[in-house]
Amino acid sequence: MRLTRQRKLLLDLIDNSGLHLDADTLYQMAHVKDPKLNRVTVYRTLKLLKESGLVDELDLAHFDGEKHYYETRLKQEHAHIICLRCGRVEELFGEQLQALRREVQTQFGFEIAFARTEVGGYCSHCQVLRAQEELRERREGRQTGEAAGRGSHGARH
Ligand SMILES: [Zn+2]
Ligand SMILES: [Zn+2]
Repeated sequence: MRLTRQRKLLLDLIDNSGLHLDADTLYQMAHVKDPKLNRVTVYRTLKLLKESGLVDELDLAHFDGEKHYYETRLKQEHAHIICLRCGRVEELFGEQLQALRREVQTQFGFEIAFARTEVGGYCSHCQVLRAQEELRERREGRQTGEAAGRGSHGARH
């Protein structure tokens, strides 16, 4: 694929960030570097970069709706561990993913074009917050329950 100026600009942004950036964030970043770039061009360019295998497109377990995220292909293959509450993304590198690939190839006689591993759940920070939220909800639920109970009790007299 010929790398036009805007393709090069976006590819560099993705390669250099090392993060998982959504299309709109990439548009904002590209727009700072080249104010003439519009949203449509950025979205179309991202699609082209993906189709040419220069970047990976991810949905990260849809933790934030239908957004798509882009990341460099320069990294070694890795699994994504996504917190469904805060959207924090961890990356797991290692021999296990290569072992999984080999097993799929042997067991199913499958020629793998790509492998994408996503694990959704809650990070240790969010586990604490979720427990607190649940406690608060239960307490509030009980309070309104008690108030209603008093109300009916009063009505009986
Ligand atoms: Zn979290
Ligand atoms: Zn990643």
